[in-house]
Amino acid sequence: MNSNAVIAIHGGAGTILRTSMSASAEADYHAALNAVLSAGQRVLADGGSALDAVSEAVRLLEDCALFNAGHGAVYTAAGTHELDAAIMDGRTLDAGAICCVKRVRNPILAARRVLERSDHVLFTGEGAEAFAIAQGLEFVDNSYFDTDARYRQWQLAREQQRPMLDHDAATLASTASNNDDPMPHEPIDPNRKFGTVGAVALDRHGHLAAATSTGGVTNKQVGRVGDTPLIGAGCYADDATCAVSTTGSGEMFMRMVAAYDVAAQMAYRQVSLEEAAHDVVMNRLPKIDGRGGLVAVDAQGNVTLSFNTEGMYRGFARLGEAPVTAIYR
Ligand code: ASP
Repeated sequence: MNSNAVIAIHGGAGTILRTSMSASAEADYHAALNAVLSAGQRVLADGGSALDAVSEAVRLLEDCALFNAGHGAVYTAAGTHELDAAIMDGRTLDAGAICCVKRVRNPILAARRVLERSDHVLFTGEGAEAFAIAQGLEFVDNSYFDTDARYRQWQLAREQQRPMLDHDAATLASTASNNDDPMPHEPIDPNRKFGTVGAVALDRHGHLAAATSTGGVTNKQVGRVGDTPLIGAGCYADDATCAVSTTGSGEMFMRMVAAYDVAAQMAYRQVSLEEAAHDVVMNRLPKIDGRGGLVAVDAQGNVTLSFNTEGMYRGFARLGEAPVTAIYR
């Protein structure tokens, strides 16, 4: 049994506006991250697989309105929600993903079913929903994903007539609102943050897994897909190297094949997880203006929580130890 079992999660990266942060909002984020890590830790402690731990962690993050995934997802230019998710098993390199779904309550569960019960890796839109229905997954009306905070971000992004990263739109909302309005007071400057969620884990059997889920970017064009559901861009896991989940400006993470690049650098350059993640996040992504970060774990249980923004909602938990959570650099 591997005694280094560990889970790490993120809930988005971005610019910190300490001035617009309320102590209670910060406490809410820490509490949410702690609860998710504790749940993941329990799965691992019970001998569950890394795949089970990351599925459960991301499902809980999707259900939490603080994060841009599942309930609390951002709005498209049409005022709807389109969700993307991916999951990968480092033991077998099996992977499953869905994108542009509108009614699947927990996209990560649909991605998991694709991994386990289909011959394919990625389903989109109606086909993805038909698959999820056939799998008996829970369906909701698209309005289930609505929240006032994201609606306000969308209105402001529309006024600016451009797509905005979740955190960018929220900062704008924060700036535009008055101090009596508690919603936009997020610890990370919401106009400059990326609210995707993700988890990586090493289980007691020595296996790795990664999962990522998102609503994408505020005011995105209908049909736009980012890095999150693309294996190798927003999510990657291989027992031989590491498990990675990313958050940030999706187009740049796609162009850099960011998650896979961390694993590839470990394999081909034989560098540590820390060094590979640092190179991708601090050297390569910034060359094309890629902003954001990632969480990753290797087969020895080393964890890295790396980001090139001012902050990233993040944390990790080792078996038998209290979870560690953080927001700022
Ligand atoms: N990477 C996500 C996307 O581009 C956004 C995010 O991380 O918040 O869809």
